[in-house]
Amino acid sequence: MIHRPTKERPNSASRDVTRSRVFEVLSVYDRISRPRIAEITGLSRATISVIVDEMLESGLVTQSGSGSSSGGRPPTILQFCPSAAYAIGASLYDDNWRIVATDLSSQVVAHEFEAIPDRSADTAIDALVRGMDRLRNRLDPSRVLPVVGIGPPGLVDMDHGIVKSAVDLGWKEVAIGPEIERRTGLHALVANRSKAGALAVLWRVAKPETTNLVYVSIGTGVAAGIILDRELFVGTNSSAGELGHMTIIPDGPLCECGNRGCLQQLVSEQAIGNAARLALRHRPEGQLYEAHEHHPELLTAFDVLDAAEQGDPVAVSVIEEVAEYLAIAVGNLVNLLNPQIVVLGGPIAEASPKLIESVASFVRRHAMAYPLSAARIIGNTLGPETGAIGAAVLVLQHSDRLYFELPAWTK
Ligand SMILES: [Zn+2]
Repeated sequence: MIHRPTKERPNSASRDVTRSRVFEVLSVYDRISRPRIAEITGLSRATISVIVDEMLESGLVTQSGSGSSSGGRPPTILQFCPSAAYAIGASLYDDNWRIVATDLSSQVVAHEFEAIPDRSADTAIDALVRGMDRLRNRLDPSRVLPVVGIGPPGLVDMDHGIVKSAVDLGWKEVAIGPEIERRTGLHALVANRSKAGALAVLWRVAKPETTNLVYVSIGTGVAAGIILDRELFVGTNSSAGELGHMTIIPDGPLCECGNRGCLQQLVSEQAIGNAARLALRHRPEGQLYEAHEHHPELLTAFDVLDAAEQGDPVAVSVIEEVAEYLAIAVGNLVNLLNPQIVVLGGPIAEASPKLIESVASFVRRHAMAYPLSAARIIGNTLGPETGAIGAAVLVLQHSDRLYFELPAWTK
């Protein structure tokens, strides 16, 4: 699915597997004794002892207190230390790179912000390298996992780290992964920012019993990240989730993809601005009209969302129409995938509780009652760093193995 970030070391393969297994158990259980690890993994106590000693030395675990015992000396409890290593993730949000370092449990420990001065791929990659360098300078290099996660917009070939196309940025065949690898010396894992966002929601928001979820990002474009059975579903050539190009109105406005009436043409930032200008021409009244009477061309989607929150009738009608289109798409997702949660994020959804409320209400008209009874439609609470956190999770998914490649271990 995604290229292996590191080369195999044949002689140490079985040792790596054993260490990974212990690492995984420790990270899941958080506090656990050596005998219990032996029970869960089926490994010998001697093997576990050697591995745990290594981990104690590196700071990945500490010993804390004693557990309960059915007799004899109570076993020492090992405590997992998420801050033993950091993952770096970056994602584009509203023409800015959001770059974060997270600990092993995906909590953000440091962040950077880097605007892209224009929308060209070269400038964006320069900006990303600048921001990443700044962030890495603030961290202990011996603790940074040797892989970076990147969440650009657009169709991404995840096997090769290439953005095949990102229409709203005008990018085509941008080898962002290989370029970042060349310039930073870190391996790169690349996934569309909405796919990354879905991973962020899975790790940070969803309850442990949540197995199926969809994250929908709405901004200059619209895309979905799909989690099935707690795994990111990417499809055959990693392009699953192009919700923005679901047909909503068969003879609707022409889309950059060549088809008509795509969701993106009806609910994106641009689309909301255009719809409001058109609505105000027919209904020249209310605060939105008064504020933009002389310069309607300056009216943005965010002006409309703000005005709708305050009850401006024209803005409300525009947002309700947008909510209806989104509800059709979300209803289709609910019928098709039967998720537990559908999270609406991205600049547009995050600016408008009213929009989310309306989608959650209107979706009843488009989803079947039974699958919908299992689903909640909610707003994203992770904010503009969602994609960056999720990009870090792309790395953290391999942390059981990567941890042992940190400089401290290879010395
Ligand atoms: Zn389209």
